[in-house]
Parts: sequence; structure tokens; C-alpha cells
Amino acid sequence: ILVALGIVFFGVATFMSVVMSKRAMIPISGAFSRQREFVADASHELRTPLSVLLSSIDAMEMTIEPVKEEEGDFVGRLLSNMRQEVKRMTNLVSDLLTLARSDSNTIETKTESFDFRAQADKAMESVNPLAASKQISLNLQAPATLMATGDPQRLSQLLYILLDNAIKYTPNGGEVQLSLSEEARQLCIKVQDTGIGIKQEDQNHIFERFYRADKSRSRQMGGHGLGLSIAKWIVDTHGGTIQLSSEVGKGSTFVIRIPQ
Ligand code: ADP
Repeated sequence: ILVALGIVFFGVATFMSVVMSKRAMIPISGAFSRQREFVADASHELRTPLSVLLSSIDAMEMTIEPVKEEEGDFVGRLLSNMRQEVKRMTNLVSDLLTLARSDSNTIETKTESFDFRAQADKAMESVNPLAASKQISLNLQAPATLMATGDPQRLSQLLYILLDNAIKYTPNGGEVQLSLSEEARQLCIKVQDTGIGIKQEDQNHIFERFYRADKSRSRQMGGHGLGLSIAKWIVDTHGGTIQLSSEVGKGSTFVIRIPQ
């Protein structure tokens, strides 16, 4: 079964590398929409085998005999590595699909009034385990209720991307703060960290697709350089602005303003 899983996994990985290399291979002139279509179709098709892989790993983890520590749990470690890589690939595929759809304007963005504070609580809850694993103190400063107008799902994805980055790029024992307010009919979202910071020359590029200031660190953290492009797209579709101020070794602050 492990060999079969390995073969499927290798197949998906090869397919993904073809998707990525197509970005460079297809000439820009006239073929841009075909390239977008290809990326959207490929990402969509990859979702099913990836979720089959993940549930197969789950099933195997439940059925294999527990192995004694001293024998070195080789199969357990192998499965855990596979799970991590499949999750990484699933996130990449989902980000690629979001961006391909955003290029072709096929994403329906909702506009409704909702309690943004409640969404922020949920986002904080979902990143809490990652922060706790690095002893990072995670704080929220916001009114008890904060009504906002926009797409609830997209705005909570925005929070998740910024918080996840803030935690990923902050060393153990640091601080991450999310502040929400409404100022002059604008929803103001501020994510502040005491992390590694971003060099001036990288600050102009980090919203570009696949741009990573520190490739090896980003990869180690499970990143692939698409989060901030999606964040920027979400802010743009809401007619808002995103500002970054950062100092290497001191930390970064992202401020988003969305008209209400
Ligand atoms: P990734 O998946 O690599 O995190 P993103 O698009 O979210 O991709 O971010 C692009 C790059 O910007 C990252 O690789 C990292 O170098 C830098 N970055 C983003 N957020 C932060 C942060 N809070 N502190 C330091 N660097 C950051």
C-alpha cells in the first residue's frame, strides 16, 4: 500500500511541477488566457487525488500496528511526512485555483453585513495552536462587536493569511497583535509582529506571485509565496488599501483599510 501511495504521490508531484513550469513555457502573447485556463483546470483536477491521498493516509494511520519506540517507527514517520507534504500541496493547489479564478473574474464576491469581530475570534482560534507551538503571545484588540460590509469568507481568509505569516516569520517567544477598528467609515485591520522583518528591497515585491524574501525559510514554514498575492487581491476586490511598514530584526506591521 505504501508503494502504491508513493506512486500516486509522485504522480501528483510530477503533474504539479509541469503546472509550475508551464508558467514559464507558454509565451505571453495571446496565450495568457489559455495558460490561466490550464492552471485553473489542472488545480481543479488535482484536488480529488489529493483528498484521496489524505484519506488513505488517515486510514493507514488507523490500521497499522503501533511500532515499538526502540524499533524506530519508520512507517509512522513516513506517513507523517507524507501527510505534511500532501497538506502543503493541497494548500498550493487551492491558492493556485483562487488566483487563476481571480484572473478570469470567475469568483463571485459577496457583499453583506456581518460581525467581523466574530470572524476575527475564529481566525485567532485557528492560528492559536501554531502560535502556542512557538510560545508566541497572540493578542486581539477589538470592540466587542464590529459590524463590517464585505465578503465574510474572503475577509476571514485575509486575516488568516496575515496572522499565519506573522506567526511563521516571528521567532519563538515573540508577539503578534491583531487590532480592529472603524475609523472614518473605514474598517481598519492591523497585524503587527515582532518577527524577522522584511528588507526594504523585498517590500516592493512581496505581493507578487511566488515571491519569497527568504526561499529556504518560507519553504521550511510550508510557504510557497502566494499568500500575500491572494491577500492583495482580496483587498483590491473590496476597494481597499494595504500598507506595510517593516524593519529587519524588529518586526512588520500590515495595515488594511476597507471602505464601509
Ligand atoms: P509565503 O507562503 O512564502 O509565506 P506570502 O506571499 O504569504 O508567501 O509572503 C511572501 C513573502 O513575504 C514570504 O515568503 C516572506 O519572505 C515575506 N513575509 C510575509 N509576511 C511576513 C512577515 N510578517 N514577516 C516577515 N516576512 C514576511
